[in-house]
Amino acid sequence: MSQLLNLLDLDATGLASACAGWGERAFRARQLSRWVHQHGADDFDAMTDLAKSFRARLAQSATVRAPAVIRDHSSRDGTRKWLLDVGVGNAVEAVFIPEADRGTLCVSTQAGCAVNCRFCSTGKQGFSRNLSVSEIVGQLWLANRALGAYSQAAPGAAAGRARRPITNVVFMGMGEPLQNYAATLASLRVMLDDNAYGLSRRRVTVSTSGVVPMIDRLREDCPVALAVSLHAPNDALRDTLVPLNRKYPLAELMAACRRYLPAAPRDFITFEYVMLAGINDSDAQARELLACTDGVACKFNLIPFNPFPGSGLARPDDARISAFARILGDAGVVTTVRCTRGDDIDAACGQLAGEVRDRTRVAQRDPAFTTLLEAR
Ligand code: SAH
Ligand code: SF4
Repeated sequence: MSQLLNLLDLDATGLASACAGWGERAFRARQLSRWVHQHGADDFDAMTDLAKSFRARLAQSATVRAPAVIRDHSSRDGTRKWLLDVGVGNAVEAVFIPEADRGTLCVSTQAGCAVNCRFCSTGKQGFSRNLSVSEIVGQLWLANRALGAYSQAAPGAAAGRARRPITNVVFMGMGEPLQNYAATLASLRVMLDDNAYGLSRRRVTVSTSGVVPMIDRLREDCPVALAVSLHAPNDALRDTLVPLNRKYPLAELMAACRRYLPAAPRDFITFEYVMLAGINDSDAQARELLACTDGVACKFNLIPFNPFPGSGLARPDDARISAFARILGDAGVVTTVRCTRGDDIDAACGQLAGEVRDRTRVAQRDPAFTTLLEAR
């Protein structure tokens, strides 16, 4: 079983070379891709327009396998989250957030995270491992299946796409996507591929804590929408909140953002800013933030901190968050405050994640999971 080639691990190039290896022409790879990603097929026998001999070959040498779902929770507001088994006691989550005009899937790229931001319990838990392409793309594949995206798909491989509940993907789950660059890049390529999910670059967002050289690589390889987790308006404070800042300080990060913009599919970068009471939420810091990001076309997304036990941090009150947002907005920068979604399954899911982790002696509940639930 373990030698089977998982087709969810392959982007178009990989699928083409696998097909070439099986003596199949290039268009077979595209057909196969449509079956897997647009019809959600995992049974080669159902791929009726492929030659029987090719189907038999596929059944022998390949598989279509996403991570196993440990728990599946639906919120009253339509938010849905899947806790996924990624082996050896590790679990990650994917979250679907429906809105009037779009449906967003938030995906994870690593089990744990090595960046170790002070306000993030994923970071506190340390780094476990990078997810593979099939574990990242598999989140989209299985969410589409669970959401009934494929139920209206016509059986013929050439048929058009079925109803699409997921219109947007954000890489804002567990992990730092740019520290798992190869798998993130291949996953992006699958998501954008017209023979797979066909998402537009504008509708796929990578969120990063600021891995400067990899922002440049992403610009060259696959410039999708970019969100940068800023959280502080100066190096002294950011060093303490996002330790990666010591390696890539703000001036370098802003320069990378300026280089990214001409290639970006949107004409702005989103700066995420977790609001921490008494730490980064003063009027003066809002003004300093404007100065620090001056010259970078941007929007601000303020994220009220989700507390977790032992963090020693707190969420500012609503009035403070509004005052901070108003200073940014009054300066002419579009500023949104992220609102919580999926409240009713929020705590339960965080606890479920905790349960699984407890088995591997990583005890704390993960607030990133609650962050995942929040609308962009
Ligand atoms: N590693 C990437 C993407 C995953 S984190 C990054 O840091 O950008 C996604 C977002 O959740 C980040 O903006 C992060 O700062 C935020 N986040 C993490 N812990 C949080 C918490 N306890 N409360 C609110 N937001 C949090
Ligand atoms: Fe990693 Fe992002 Fe959490 Fe920082 S905020 S520890 S980069 S997942």
